[in-house]
Formats: sequence, C-alpha cells, structure tokens
Amino acid sequence: MATTLLTGLTADCTELDVDADKSLAATRPTFGGSLLCTIYTLNFRPQMATVRPRVMQMPRRQDGRDGRIVSFDVDLREDDIITKLLRFVPDRDSNKSNLAYADIVVSGGMGLQSAENYQLVRQLASVLGAEYGCSRPLVQKGWVPAERQIGQTGKTIRPKLYIAAGISGAIQHRVGVDGADMIVAINTDKNAPIFDFAHLGIVTDAVRFLPALTEAFRKRLSPHSKDRLAG
Ligand SMILES: Cc1cc2nc3c(=O)[nH]c(=O)nc-3n(C[C@H](O)[C@H](O)[C@H](O)COP(=O)(O)OP(=O)(O)OC[C@H]3O[C@@H](n4cnc5c(N)ncnc54)[C@H](O)[C@@H]3O)c2cc1C
Repeated sequence: MATTLLTGLTADCTELDVDADKSLAATRPTFGGSLLCTIYTLNFRPQMATVRPRVMQMPRRQDGRDGRIVSFDVDLREDDIITKLLRFVPDRDSNKSNLAYADIVVSGGMGLQSAENYQLVRQLASVLGAEYGCSRPLVQKGWVPAERQIGQTGKTIRPKLYIAAGISGAIQHRVGVDGADMIVAINTDKNAPIFDFAHLGIVTDAVRFLPALTEAFRKRLSPHSKDRLAG
C-alpha cells in the first residue's frame, strides 16, 4: 500500500504519537532490539505505520453505540484478483502460541534453573486454561520455542493476569508485560526489579512454590470457574 501511494512505512511500532505540527512520531526497536528509535516521514504524505499486536490498549466497550451500514456496489471480476483460494488447510498444531490474546499467561525465567523445572510453568498454565511464556534466556538455551518469548524482542501481551516465576524483570522483559492488568511475581530475591512493577510479589523459591500453587488451583477450579477467572 505504501509503495502504491509513493510514501514511507514504519513497521512493527511499539508507540505512536502525533507532534504539534501533525507529524506522526513512530517509535520502534532497532539494532536488534537494543535501542528504540522514533521515525518521522518528512517529505511524503500520507504518513503510514503498523503496530505490533496488543501494543495499543483496547477501548472500553460502550453499550448502545451503533454502527452505520453503508451499501457499496463492488465492480469486481474474479480475473481482477491475483490470489486464488485453492483450499483450506487445517492448522493441527495445538501447541501454537496464542500469547498475544490470552487472558492469563504463566511465564518462567532463569530462576527455574532447568528445562525440566520449566514444565512446572506449563502445568500451572494447563490448570488455569492459560498460555505459557518465558524470558529470553530460556529461548536462547533452547528450553522453550522462540514464539513463547515475551518482551522487547518477543511478544507484547496484555493479559488480565500475568504470573512470572523466576524472572528478574529486566526492562526488555518489562516492556512486553506492562499492559497486564495484574502481575504476580515469584522470586527469591526481594530486591528483584520485577517487584518494582508487580502488583503482587511472592518472595520464595518458585520451583517449590509452583507445584503447590498448581495443586491449590486444581482443587479449586472446575471448568466453569476457570472461565470466570479469565472473564
Ligand atoms: C537487545 C536485547 C533484547 C532483549 N529482549 C528480551 C526480551 O524480549 N525478553 C526478555 O525476557 N529478555 C530480553 N532481553 C534479556 C534481558 O535483558 C534479561 O537478560 C532477561 O530478561 C533476564 O531473564 P531472566 O529474568 O529469566 O533471568 P535472570 O536475569 O538470570 O533472572 C533470574 C531471576 O530468578 C530469580 N531466582 C533465582 N532462583 C530462583 C528460584 N528458585 N525461585 C524464584 N526466583 C529465582 C533471581 O533472583 C532473578 O531475579 C534482551 C536483552 C537485550 C540486550
């Protein structure tokens, strides 16, 4: 679209602003995510940008608002469309991450110490009907697939509940979870940065605490109460 309109496009933005002179200030990670840069389209119009999913807060639902249906006659022949639908191929990968849209996300970091202990995160997520994620070092170690990484160079999420076990709360992780309604952090170090922005902090060994928490939820939750927790 930008090419057709002979203008520029700033893709994958994490923040958008409009300056006093109506210039669009589009901010995105650069240099492999080590810096944030703000890009202006100086010479061409329109100004165009795309944002990462879940970067923008959803507006609150306003009951009673009506849409307007506008009828429009489309003069389009099949030959005008350059793509053809041949068939639907079902996606059978049930492990595929739906992190960006999950209401509850359970996440693990290096404090879990091993890939085996990371399974404690998956077990809690399973009981809560939640998605599971991780900090970057777990991806680098090959314990968790890259699509589960949360943060500046991973996914941006906006769940209602984010449970972070053994995650320090480095700024690159924080930017991916700042939009969560409730952050619960489990960490042995009471001075860990994650306690600066968590809503609830639990200072303890996550490897011992997670199984107990999973068991407590397992006892309390029926399939219906899980829905209530998410809603
Ligand atoms: C360009 C760049 C981009 C990056 N992008 C990302 C990104 O997208 N996402 C991301 O997550 N990181 C990212 N990082 C890495 C980031 O800077 C941190 O290094 C990383 O988030 C740390 O991961 P961690 O908290 O799991 O590990 P650590 O920093 O090692 O922290 C482990 C925490 O676990 C606690 N702990 C230890 N034992 C236990 C226990 N038994 N129970 C409970 N707690 C325990 C410790 O007190 C500590 O706070 C990026 C870095 C750079 C330079």
